[in-house]
Amino acid sequence: MKKGIYILSGLVIIFSILCLIKDKRKENEVIKNNNPYEIFSFYKEENLNRYEKYFNNNNLSYKDTILRVNIGLDNSFYTNTKEIINFDKLMLVNKYNYVSESFKVPNLVEVSEFAKDNMYLEKECMTSFIKMARDASINGLNLRAISTYRTYEYQENLYNNYLKSDGLEKADTYSARPGFSEHHTGLAIDLDNIKTSYMNFENTKEFTWMKENAYKYGFILRYPKDKENITGYMYEAWHYRYVGTRIATYIHENNITYEEYYYEFLDK
Ligand SMILES: [Zn+2]
Repeated sequence: MKKGIYILSGLVIIFSILCLIKDKRKENEVIKNNNPYEIFSFYKEENLNRYEKYFNNNNLSYKDTILRVNIGLDNSFYTNTKEIINFDKLMLVNKYNYVSESFKVPNLVEVSEFAKDNMYLEKECMTSFIKMARDASINGLNLRAISTYRTYEYQENLYNNYLKSDGLEKADTYSARPGFSEHHTGLAIDLDNIKTSYMNFENTKEFTWMKENAYKYGFILRYPKDKENITGYMYEAWHYRYVGTRIATYIHENNITYEEYYYEFLDK
């Protein structure tokens, strides 16, 4: 009986020592590999060289380095572009991700109030927009949708006109190339307050209200100030994107762009 207990204790001790050796080896491996990116869930092994290069050229944290490379920012806008085939309420359309001419938005409905004529949005986005505009109007404010869903052809004409008047470099800072506009998703809205041009929206009471309340209805300011290097667009106080209240709240509280949110939490 006693002998048995001795053998068992011996085995337990040997097992514990083996576990300790294994742990130590693992620790040494991490130190040896010295890969500070691996701990992030959105790390992509195939991008490791790009992370290292980007990290050396920019003064950013490991996390921001990974996110920006995954967004595609280590390459110029409109390079390494990817087509999005199917509509998704959380889809990301930007200068690296586009839709084709045949892309369809399901449940596209006309915006019946608080909009110019012939404005269409995805149904859930439309419902939230109406709710938001109604609550704003209770506070004596006028929110009006002046540009919503756009077809490929519409964006093509728009962009080509800007191209003619301003040239490629300038046009690219404020207008999307056809297929690359968030307006193709039916989830984006440009606003004015009826009284002044949308270009002046930043200086209106409506904008101040939107800054404090849009996220409660699931909308985010899509092209914020000082984030041009991530979004690829100049600051647009008038352009909002519907992402739902949970995500809009997170983005609002953390002061990040949709690109950063998408590549941290939604990219697969
Ligand atoms: Zn817009």
